[in-house]
Amino acid sequence: MAGKKQYIVDERLWQKMISQESFSGEVKFMEPMKAHTYLQIGGEADVFACPQDTVSLENILAALNEERIPFVTVGGGTNILVKDGGIYGVVISLKNFRRSDIAKEEKDMVMFFAESGTPLQKLVSFSKENGYSGIEGLAGIPGSVGGAIAGNAGAFGYSIKNMLVSVRMTNPDKGIYEMSASELGLEYRASKLPEDTVILSANMRLRKDVKEDVAKRINSFLKRKRETQPLSEMSAGCVFKNPEGASAGRLIDEAGCKGMRIGNAEVSRMHANFFINKGNAKASDFLKLMDEVKKKVMKVFGTELEPEIRIMGRNVN
Ligand SMILES: Cc1cc2nc3c(=O)[nH]c(=O)nc-3n(C[C@H](O)[C@H](O)[C@H](O)COP(=O)(O)OP(=O)(O)OC[C@H]3O[C@@H](n4cnc5c(N)ncnc54)[C@H](O)[C@@H]3O)c2cc1C
Repeated sequence: MAGKKQYIVDERLWQKMISQESFSGEVKFMEPMKAHTYLQIGGEADVFACPQDTVSLENILAALNEERIPFVTVGGGTNILVKDGGIYGVVISLKNFRRSDIAKEEKDMVMFFAESGTPLQKLVSFSKENGYSGIEGLAGIPGSVGGAIAGNAGAFGYSIKNMLVSVRMTNPDKGIYEMSASELGLEYRASKLPEDTVILSANMRLRKDVKEDVAKRINSFLKRKRETQPLSEMSAGCVFKNPEGASAGRLIDEAGCKGMRIGNAEVSRMHANFFINKGNAKASDFLKLMDEVKKKVMKVFGTELEPEIRIMGRNVN
């Protein structure tokens, strides 16, 4: 049926699969993903489900597995580009998984527990208020703890890997299980998170330090970030990973791409590795811009850029 959008799961099928008693939380149908991404780009997801608790999440995963319906998990939507044709299947948002607390306190360390939907900046603020060190370089990175783990977020030589002890997760085949941080294969902006696995929560270790020193480091990282990145504009952070020994932003800048624009997607004039939605940009324009920039960098430097942002969804028919 050319031109007509196909849904794999609609309201009727959802209600057949997921009984009212088995699910607590919010669910929306044909939900525009632009409402759930920092870039404010993206077509409709068949279903956008925000389970309230682990049981509801497990029930959805079991039903989707049984019906062979694809799903993706999102946190804050700050590192994703959703294509204009939207997402076929179910988007699971962990925004209701927000409990966090000190799990254990030792002489020099604290063990911190956070559910995956906890905003990363909540942990940074908590560390600043209490003088816990280890997380300073993550100051100003938007999004959730789950998203930060999935992509090993970091900056200024810090990454979430350095403080992570273990992660609790669930998978439609295995159920709930725990992995140590070392088993997750966290590398520069990447993890070996098994496919179809949803991060539920994490344990992180922070070091007790002088409160004023922690605050000073956080403030200085935030200042550097504000001075160099277009934080108030609609972006998804750095579009490309830094190639070995080089800065993707510098290569893009020196290849002459700053300010390059396709439709309403533009290479930031402030930081060339941030691409901005100047207003109602299409994912297709963003992708074309990525392609053009990649080609230019390849032509000038012979370097192949690899995306850091996660691209999901389908093209318009
Ligand atoms: C202005 C700006 C500045 C930024 N600065 C930085 C920076 O300095 N350093 C940096 O590393 N990043 C930066 N980013 C990118 C982004 O904020 C981080 O990558 C962030 O950690 C992503 O978290 P999120 O919750 O938004 O993830 P999302 O964008 O929602 O998802 C990202 C990926 O993680 C997966 N995921 C999310 N939650 C889960 C879960 N619970 N279980 C399994 N998989 C999950 C998704 O499927 C997706 O593949 C920046 C982004 C912006 C917009």
